[in-house]
Amino acid sequence: MKVKNKRGTSVRTCYCSNWLQHWRKFTGEVTYSCRAEGCNRTDIVGAHVLRTVSYDNREYIVPLCKLHNKADGFVELKPWTKLAPANVKNTCGNGQLL
Ligand SMILES: [Zn+2]
Ligand SMILES: [Zn+2]
Repeated sequence: MKVKNKRGTSVRTCYCSNWLQHWRKFTGEVTYSCRAEGCNRTDIVGAHVLRTVSYDNREYIVPLCKLHNKADGFVELKPWTKLAPANVKNTCGNGQLL
C-alpha cells in the first residue's frame, strides 16, 4: 500500500500522549520499526499520511521513522500495515471538549 506523506503537521496534537500512541490505541497493533517498505529504523513517530488507494481526503496515522516522516511525496508501506484515523473528533477526542 502506498501513502502520501502529509507535511507540516508536527504541531498538531491529540488526546493521546503522542501520535504513535494514538496509532497503537486505534489499531491495536505494536511496532518497533518504521512501516515503510525496506526500512528498519526505530526512531519512529506517528506520521500523518493520506491514502492513495481508495483516496478519501482523510488523514491517517502510521508509524514512520524521522527520515521517512520528512520525506516528500509517496511512501510504500510494509504489507499488512494498519492506518489509524487522524480525526481526533471521531477517535480519542470523542466526547471531549475541543
Ligand atoms: Zn489520539
Ligand atoms: Zn523509515
